[in-house]
Amino acid sequence: MTATAAELSYRLEQKRAIHGVFPGPKSEALTQRRKAVVAAGVASSVPVYVEDADGGIVRDVDGNSFIDLGAGIAVTSVGASDPAVVAAVQESVSHFTHTCFMVTPYEGYVAVAEQLNRLTPGDHEKRTVLFNSGAEAVENAVKVARLATGRDAVVAFDHAYHGRTNLTMALTAKAMPYKTNFGPFAPEVYRMPMSYPYREENPEITGAEAAKRVITMIEKQIGGDQVAAIIIEPIQGEGGFIVPADGFLPALAAWAKDKGVVLIADEVQSGFCRTGEWFAVNHEGVVPDIITMAKGIAGGLPLSAITGRADLLDAVHPGGLGGTYGGNPVACAAALAAIGTMEEHNLNGRARHIEELAVGHLRDLQSELAGPDGSSVIGDIRGRGAMLAIELVHAGSKEPNPELTKAVAGACLKEGVIILTCGTYGNVIRLLPPLVISDELLVDGLQVLASAIKAHA
Ligand SMILES: *Cc1c(COP(=O)(O)O)cnc(C)c1O
Repeated sequence: MTATAAELSYRLEQKRAIHGVFPGPKSEALTQRRKAVVAAGVASSVPVYVEDADGGIVRDVDGNSFIDLGAGIAVTSVGASDPAVVAAVQESVSHFTHTCFMVTPYEGYVAVAEQLNRLTPGDHEKRTVLFNSGAEAVENAVKVARLATGRDAVVAFDHAYHGRTNLTMALTAKAMPYKTNFGPFAPEVYRMPMSYPYREENPEITGAEAAKRVITMIEKQIGGDQVAAIIIEPIQGEGGFIVPADGFLPALAAWAKDKGVVLIADEVQSGFCRTGEWFAVNHEGVVPDIITMAKGIAGGLPLSAITGRADLLDAVHPGGLGGTYGGNPVACAAALAAIGTMEEHNLNGRARHIEELAVGHLRDLQSELAGPDGSSVIGDIRGRGAMLAIELVHAGSKEPNPELTKAVAGACLKEGVIILTCGTYGNVIRLLPPLVISDELLVDGLQVLASAIKAHA
């Protein structure tokens, strides 16, 4: 137990419990109602309906309690009903739900901007704009970069995920399910090779060499002086929790700075203590020109933001940025409370503790599964803090094993553990627990995961 964990308290019992058939009758009934009214294009990976959630537990309408190793895709880092967030929302919503910051502004928006300018890397003069979704933040970061530079081209990477709107689909790498048949896509997006240590043809390639590979391609195929922005997830999320080799991000950042290219770090998934730092770029001391944020920012309420160099953000004419709901007052109150919880409970420290605990378990499992040649179905263990993943392969090769991945996630669910998958090849199991999860619950979840892999490998 760490000192920070001891301070945490929970409303729901922090214990896994599945009763009778799965999914239960009430969830089944809701699935039938849903099929008649909700579009088929919206898919849910878990077939149960939620009634309550707290700490590391999600409870469904049939009274089953699941260990939450997904946090609603890295959103509820402070828990799904953090008392400070709940109280702040209740207080805020009892005064006003909305006025529109572009009509009659309010303090909460300004206070969130102050916090983001303080917490994001770099001590330069910064400005912030608030939106609703991660995709909207990405769209606006690109708008700002294009206006400020007077250039069009945007560089994105293999395995990238940036959202589901038209421009962010163009920036996203994976066709199915995100892009297939949804074109035509926004122009002037160029895709470059990511540094993906586990799958490099030359496993010896350094981060600096992988960056050089990108820079040469940009200079030959686009021209450095044509590029408005490079957008990159410092640790890729949906693409497979890919951590680039050390030195890759700093080398790209140095080149971008030299060429007047805006470096946009998409920290929508990796931000807000998730990796054991406020932002994943901090691990390598990289200071982006603009940073996009969402997911973990507001304890589950819809809020997103861009924070960046004042000279870039202030280049935009008045009225050029905004949106009806952007920086909703209730969401701002939630963000201020969530940031308070992150600081009060040292959730960066908690994320590093989760890494230590989980990676230890995963390494043990990997060696337990290893055959005489040392290989196993766990091809790679990677990530930082509480953003961890294992890549499942056919033992003895690096051939992706999406079937095993799906079977393992399904088996965990039946045992009461919510586990998310991801990856270009659909073969990555990702761990994104709420940072407030207890050690006991996390270890129980990891043991269920280990049994599921052993049973199916
Ligand atoms: C989730 C995500 C987005 C999109 O956020 P939405 O809120 O779903 O629009 C963008 N970038 C990254 C890195 C993400 O993980």
